[in-house]
Amino acid sequence: MPRYEYRCRSCGDTFEVNRPMAQSSDPANCPAGHEDTVKLLSAVAVGGTKSAPAPGGGNGGGGGGCCGGGCCG
Ligand SMILES: [Zn+2]
Repeated sequence: MPRYEYRCRSCGDTFEVNRPMAQSSDPANCPAGHEDTVKLLSAVAVGGTKSAPAPGGGNGGGGGGCCGGGCCG
């Protein structure tokens, strides 16, 4: 579950909340009960999705079938 960081504008405290991404935009009360909080840009979004497969790989290029694992024999 992603973790989001918030800062309370009432007391200046920062705190973290674990919550589903579906609730990432919901308001969060600070531990002291204040409601005037802002969500910070946390480390959750760091990093990209540059995991493209290597072109022409070195595995025969047969494309992940089952013939490599023994289930076709
Ligand atoms: Zn507070």
